[in-house]
Amino acid sequence: MRDAEPSAIYLKDYQVPSHLIDKTHLHFILHPTKTRVSSDLTIRKNPDADTKSNELILHGQDIDLQSVSIDGRQLDDRDYQLEAECLRIANVPEQFVLSVVGLIAPADNTSLEGLYKSQSMYCTQCEAEGFRKITYFLDRPDVLSEFTTTVVADKTEFPVLLSNGNPIKSGSLDDNMHFVTWHDPFPKPAYLFALVGGDLECIQDSFTTTSGRAIDLKIYVEEKDLDKCDHAMASLKSSMRWDEDVYGREYDLDIFMIVAVDDFNMGAMENKGLNIFNTSCVLAKAETTTDAGFQRVEAVVAHEYFHNWSGNRVTCRDWFQLSLKEGFTVFRDAEFSADMGSRTVKRVEDAKLLRAMQFAEDAGPLAHPVQPASFIEISNFYTLTVYEKGAEVVRMIHTLLGAEAFRQGSDLYFERNDGKAATIEDFVSSMEEAGGRDLSKFMSWYHQAGTPKLAVTADYNSSSREYALTFNQTCPTTPECDSEDKKPYLIPVAMGLLGSNGPLSLVPETDVDFSLSKNDTHCVLELTQPQHRVVFKDINAPPVPSLMRGFSAPVRLQFDYSPDDLITLMTQDDDGFTRWDACQQLCVSVIHEVEASLQQGKEPSVDSRLSDAARALITNQNLDPAMVALMLTLPSEGYLAEIATTANIDTIHSAREIVRNHLAASLKTEFAERFDSLPYFPEYEANAVQIAVRSLKNCCLGYLVATADPVWLERAMTQYRTATNMTDQSAALSVLALSPDSKAVDYSVSALSEFYQQWQSEALVVNQWFSVQAMQPGEKAVDRIRSLMQHEAFNINNPNKVRALIGAFANNNPVCFHNSDGSGYRLLAEVVKKLNATNPQIAARMLGPLTKWRKYDSKRRELMQAELNSIKQTVGLSKDVFEVISKSLA
Ligand SMILES: [Zn+2]
Repeated sequence: MRDAEPSAIYLKDYQVPSHLIDKTHLHFILHPTKTRVSSDLTIRKNPDADTKSNELILHGQDIDLQSVSIDGRQLDDRDYQLEAECLRIANVPEQFVLSVVGLIAPADNTSLEGLYKSQSMYCTQCEAEGFRKITYFLDRPDVLSEFTTTVVADKTEFPVLLSNGNPIKSGSLDDNMHFVTWHDPFPKPAYLFALVGGDLECIQDSFTTTSGRAIDLKIYVEEKDLDKCDHAMASLKSSMRWDEDVYGREYDLDIFMIVAVDDFNMGAMENKGLNIFNTSCVLAKAETTTDAGFQRVEAVVAHEYFHNWSGNRVTCRDWFQLSLKEGFTVFRDAEFSADMGSRTVKRVEDAKLLRAMQFAEDAGPLAHPVQPASFIEISNFYTLTVYEKGAEVVRMIHTLLGAEAFRQGSDLYFERNDGKAATIEDFVSSMEEAGGRDLSKFMSWYHQAGTPKLAVTADYNSSSREYALTFNQTCPTTPECDSEDKKPYLIPVAMGLLGSNGPLSLVPETDVDFSLSKNDTHCVLELTQPQHRVVFKDINAPPVPSLMRGFSAPVRLQFDYSPDDLITLMTQDDDGFTRWDACQQLCVSVIHEVEASLQQGKEPSVDSRLSDAARALITNQNLDPAMVALMLTLPSEGYLAEIATTANIDTIHSAREIVRNHLAASLKTEFAERFDSLPYFPEYEANAVQIAVRSLKNCCLGYLVATADPVWLERAMTQYRTATNMTDQSAALSVLALSPDSKAVDYSVSALSEFYQQWQSEALVVNQWFSVQAMQPGEKAVDRIRSLMQHEAFNINNPNKVRALIGAFANNNPVCFHNSDGSGYRLLAEVVKKLNATNPQIAARMLGPLTKWRKYDSKRRELMQAELNSIKQTVGLSKDVFEVISKSLA
């Protein structure tokens, strides 16, 4: 017999909770398999609920229930009904204290939701629905309660006992036990609850808020990692200052704590006053962490800190509003990172991620709106759409309102909803009020899935000296809605026109709302209809339009640029994003030409305009080196697959390699000169200047190794061995290990073996070692992955290891993953089946690459579908995996 198929939950069915829990008292006695959790909940009937029923239904899962009582009166099992996922109590009074005692087994909890053990410490992850694995509760974000938590454990093994809020009491107990009581004065939903017990050390600092309150800051880690916390602490202090300066938001408790945990499903979690972090998002040190790692720590620390207001003080009414806290907070952390480093580089990196990954999600079977209308398992909706597209949507509101009105809107939103559970509509209505404008046409961005396509055509009339642009917007069919039933989007188009002597003054004549910048060479058009025509006057010759400056809307822009137009944009536009994008489009068109030649069996040739443009970039000393590196990086195979109707993985790979090798060979001298002329910084700092230089240097090294010149293979090996920071060391390791040339093999083998010898005691560095090998080319890739899965350092219960090895293989080694013998698909399916039983969240996430089967040729489609079907037959299939598979096969 098979379980009934899990069913979907709908936004339209939302009802207020039947009861409210004003106060929550929790008492934990920590034990690996018998942790005793006692709760006293002060409950009353919700005056806003229209139900007549006196039944209370609490969520709960995997709890060994010991006792239930109401106002001190013990209930027997005729008074309540215990089901697999809930506890029903009939005939509860209007107001009462419910006391429940249960036993849970943290050491057996491999799902990493609820209370679990990571190595020797106890920790929790409750978002979205993990709290119900700790105790029976109304585990939904619109039930806010004031928590008091006492944790009891062995004094020697678990000297540090933490929970949310401020510590109010502690002391010794018999049998070498001790306790600490924490009180959080701010009512919060259960998903923000946290508890930690462990033998941890901490670094301490303090921060004085704008109103003069001193806040204790503590980062808890294992003793061996104490030397890797300084960057996170500095990032935390910068974030606290920034949120005061830019948003007027001050921290509210007396203490702010971060705890680093090895086994963690997500990046980090914003539990009130006690953030729990995946070690990969908090530990950083020059010798062990790359520049990208340092930037990630800064961004994630900021993101979780910013949630204290956008997420905790104002939380979500239900999980359909997830983007209310995530989209807004990602926008906030992106702006913070832009202020800390290079604004243009940050913007390009975000746009690049969105176009390669989120657009693919939007075009696939799991496409969903930023505000989804339904889900089976909410864990599947922690997606690029909800986070990154959600942030782009908030950014567009910022563009439409301007910085000042946006800030007023944000103040109004926080003021009005403080201490409440809000909706996306509450957020937008505050913005409408502050901006004095109606945003109803804007809501399509929240309600419709899919990436809108904006096709633009131009015509120039020399006698009237008019230049006209016609904009046509459409949005493809997605699982929830047909193309023709979709409403148009309000699309802000930031643009300018380039003439032969630079930017032209704009005099638009149109029915479209627009705003002009002070120097009148830049404007933002607000498109609202399927089609618009905009005419520019007094134009003496056909210009080159610079469209979607700063990636002003997450759309697929279509304009028929010639290679020469693209070179004009690359070299003359004053918007960094447009320059980068023009360069990418030039690369794409050159790669497409090579692909076409390969498919026709012709000898491919590489358009010399690309190498000329690249030469101009490498030799230009005035451009930001980080931008040069980004522009010289060819579009990824993933992006090239994403923009293809049917992705021919092997041709894409060969064409990209041909273009890359051509650039490497024809510009070898320039790459070498630039490589040698860039400075070396003996004192490592993770600042924008140093990061930019290292990124260009290692980009040059990549091209130089691609020439397979023994001199450069040797120099890469020297850099590998002498590097004093992980950025340079791992860059050298990657270029050698990923080189397809046989001359690189010996270097690659030595470097990989030395790397493991050197770093085997650093788990996060070992993850990099797994990833590089997961991405190595060659026929034996699948066998290599299988043997690495048996390696002493691999552990399938640790999500970071799974992502580093299996995730890197399936996502970043397309040629081997899509091997036409199906071996890559089989490997992934086996891993998903294993994880389904232990950690369904990670299982569902790993499944992603298989769900994109429609992108490939018929043979691969069949192989991928077969693996999906075989997973679907697994006994005990989790809700998480069921939802992804059934949507993908639908
Ligand atoms: Zn978040």
